[in-house]
Amino acid sequence: MSTQLPSTTGLLPPEFVAFTASPATEPFWDAAREHRLVVPRCSSCGTFRLPPAVFCWNCRSLDVEWIEHDGAGDLYSYTVIRHAVIPSMADVLPIVVGVVELPGTNGCRLIGDVIGCDPESVHIGMPLLLDWYDVADGSVPCFRPRA
Ligand SMILES: [Zn+2]
Repeated sequence: MSTQLPSTTGLLPPEFVAFTASPATEPFWDAAREHRLVVPRCSSCGTFRLPPAVFCWNCRSLDVEWIEHDGAGDLYSYTVIRHAVIPSMADVLPIVVGVVELPGTNGCRLIGDVIGCDPESVHIGMPLLLDWYDVADGSVPCFRPRA
């Protein structure tokens, strides 16, 4: 599901979203452009490593394979942004920024805005589904409540 959103949904305006791909993260961003989540896994020891890193924190191997994940996860932590540090953000607040744990990835977590719900209903452990927010240079992950 693609997300074309007006500025009232609690996502940062696209002009505030920027990322820079490196050789270690480029496969992640390439898949994101296609609205697919891939998680790097060490092909030597099987340890997932997200955020992507050049080498495995467990065995120091440089070998990596990219595993597709459906993005369903549980909210590990979050914060609600209610104060517009930049005045032009005022129209989209509050924004809920979540840290979502991805099952089956030895505890890897992904950060993204939590959308499509009342910010007051957000809670630790909340089941979430991955969605994508299209910005100028690609797509970034965001999450919606999972029934
Ligand atoms: Zn490893």
